[in-house]
Amino acid sequence: MTNDSRTIVIVGGVAGGATAAARARRCNEKARIIVFEKSGYVSFANCGLPYYLGGEIKQRDKLLVATPERFRTRFNVDVRTQHEVLAIDRQAKCVTVVNLSTGQTFEQPYDKLILAPGAKAMVPNLSGSDAGNVFVLRNMEDTDRIRTWLDQKQPQRAVVVGAGFIGLEMVEQLKRRGLQVALVELLPQVLPPLDAEMAHVVEEELRRQGVELHLGDAIAGIVVEQGIARQVTLDSGAALDADIVLIGIGVRPNTKLAVSANLEIGESGGIRVNRHMQTSDPAIYAVGDAVQYEHGVLERPMRIALAGPANRAGRVAGQHAAMDDAPPMAPVLGTSVVRAFAATAAMTGLSLKMAARFERPATAVTIETKHHAGYYPGAQTMLLKLVYEPRSGKVLGAQAVGGAGVDKRIDVISTAIHFDTTVHDLASLDLAYAPPLGSAKDPVHMAAFVACNQLDGLLDVVQPQEDLAGKQVVDVRTEKEFAADHLPGVVHIPVDQLRDRLAELDPARDTVTICRSGLRSYLAARLLMQHGFKHVSDLTGGMVMRHHARASGMLDEADGKK
Ligand SMILES: Cc1cc2nc3c(=O)[nH]c(=O)nc-3n(C[C@H](O)[C@H](O)[C@H](O)COP(=O)(O)OP(=O)(O)OC[C@H]3O[C@@H](n4cnc5c(N)ncnc54)[C@H](O)[C@@H]3O)c2cc1C
Repeated sequence: MTNDSRTIVIVGGVAGGATAAARARRCNEKARIIVFEKSGYVSFANCGLPYYLGGEIKQRDKLLVATPERFRTRFNVDVRTQHEVLAIDRQAKCVTVVNLSTGQTFEQPYDKLILAPGAKAMVPNLSGSDAGNVFVLRNMEDTDRIRTWLDQKQPQRAVVVGAGFIGLEMVEQLKRRGLQVALVELLPQVLPPLDAEMAHVVEEELRRQGVELHLGDAIAGIVVEQGIARQVTLDSGAALDADIVLIGIGVRPNTKLAVSANLEIGESGGIRVNRHMQTSDPAIYAVGDAVQYEHGVLERPMRIALAGPANRAGRVAGQHAAMDDAPPMAPVLGTSVVRAFAATAAMTGLSLKMAARFERPATAVTIETKHHAGYYPGAQTMLLKLVYEPRSGKVLGAQAVGGAGVDKRIDVISTAIHFDTTVHDLASLDLAYAPPLGSAKDPVHMAAFVACNQLDGLLDVVQPQEDLAGKQVVDVRTEKEFAADHLPGVVHIPVDQLRDRLAELDPARDTVTICRSGLRSYLAARLLMQHGFKHVSDLTGGMVMRHHARASGMLDEADGKK
């Protein structure tokens, strides 16, 4: 094991940088390790910031996971906050640093340099973006500014721009503080990484909580009076009154240092690194939001601004910088989860729309299920969409929306993708079960069973947004369900009567069976196939997903109206 007195300099002291520093020390006791952080804090919980602003995390100091003093005493790491690294001299192997408290500039030599400078919040290029009550949320300083405004000015109306993870978390927390909240998103859906019909479940929850949604609309202007934003105007002409505006429209990788040092930038705009997180200069590593990772399914570089990859990459870089060796960084799947009031949404790997964008053959099944045994009190509904390769059954991705247990299913499927499995493997997983915690046939199994049926030729599925015109659509729900809502022009035969009423159907026609969520329609499809019907498919996710597909604009508005 290398245990020499090399100097490791780290730029940025939060997720990736702090992890790299601690790992480097654990791997090399003699190294000199210096962390430069331009803000006033290191190792703070950026992911916890919204919850402090909303009051769920009560004490500010809970956000400060480790202080410079802790780094010094426990790890013998020299952490210098308020120090910005301005430039890298690769030939001389040294960085130029400014002490922001004193203005003094100095050079710091390094043997290994780790860049963990994160990303910058994007701000629309509009006049008014710099008003005193227009905020982005990246760090402790932003948090303090927002918290002061909330506490002192007691704003009543908030406009949140951007319906990604941070936007939704802020919507939830501002509502928690009693504000009226309007949410503006350029795309016609919240949570852009999800397929639209899955995201629609979250939109319904937001509306239920009284959030005013402006989807498919863009911020056009900010009306400012005496330095304070009073109104946000949208492309559609809408004008939203605001006492506070939060911008969460995405981040840009902080590549300034890397670019000026002529390090290679990848096609996705992040710093190009190898599996040991080394840049095009092997003495310089880069991790976190500033880099591009290898996407585990697409096998192409992508920027994935999440805390998990930043921490894992920091560990790899810290070890490699300390001892010239480390297990390589594994490809990243973009596994993520967010809570928006009662709805939890999570995803891993590819969505169907991402697969289409990258021309990756993919299909999907969607099930509605309970997070634990339905008969045990408190079972919560979950929608789980499993994305896989049509012929091989290779698992490509999954999305889940519901309450409890969503994260567990996505983590199981993420693990499966990591090990390059198929839906048949998923169907055979040995998962823990007791009624308060799961089901003997777990939601992961149930989704996989449907996918296996499709692969094995037992069932064909059509997607919730599919055009059903010209098909013989058989709705097999009860009279009561059918009376409440049904698609136009369908044949209604409850599943328990189907065997006796086959004569009412034409076995030569393309037939689609439909029920509430896909279970009874599966039974019906199997029955029809075994009675000689030529081509039968099941509408995956049933009327539940048809509703979400229609409401999210994926198919004709008129569909489904009585
Ligand atoms: C509000 C919020 C909530 C989030 N929630 C989640 C979540 O729930 N789940 C999840 O997976 N991810 C979440 N993220 C994303 C996650 O925090 C980031 O992906 C992760 O922190 C990236 O780590 P990093 O080390 O690359 O950058 P950061 O953690 O952002 O650290 C970069 C640091 O580098 C410093 N720096 C930059 N340039 C210099 C320089 N030249 N000299 C010195 N210092 C410099 C910056 O001041 C900054 O402190 C959230 C992010 C935010 C802001």
